[in-house]
Amino acid sequence: MTPTDHFAAEFVESFPSPLTPGVLYVSTKYSMTVHLCACGCGGEVAVKLAPARYRVVFDGNISLSPSVAATALPCNSHYFITRGEVDWHRQLSARQTERVRAADQRAVAAQRADFEPGWPVRLLRRLRGRA
Ligand SMILES: [Zn+2]
Repeated sequence: MTPTDHFAAEFVESFPSPLTPGVLYVSTKYSMTVHLCACGCGGEVAVKLAPARYRVVFDGNISLSPSVAATALPCNSHYFITRGEVDWHRQLSARQTERVRAADQRAVAAQRADFEPGWPVRLLRRLRGRA
C-alpha cells in the first residue's frame, strides 16, 4: 500500500465500488465526498458537505477544507487536500482528536443556531412574557 500524494476529482451521482486510490469522489446528489485514505491503509473517508462542515472547491484541481482527520480509521491520519495535493500533518493525539470532534460539534450547533428565531422574535416573546 502506497500513500497517495495527489487527488483528482471525479464528480458522480453515487459512489463506485471499489473506489480508486487517488480519486476524490464528489457526489452532487448526496452532497458528500468519499476517498480512500491518503495513507494507503485502504480505509474509506466519507465527508458530508455542508456550510458548517466541509466544502470542496474545484478550480481545475480539487480542494477539501477543513483538513481531513480520519479519526474513524485505525491510522488516525490527518491531512489537507489542497489543489489536489496532499499536505500531511502529524497524527493527532487522542486529546487533539477529542478537540477536533468537539469543534465539529460546535460548528454543527452554530449552524443550527442560524435557523433559530432572530432577535426580533426573541424580543417579542420576552415582551409578551412580561405583559
Ligand atoms: Zn489511513
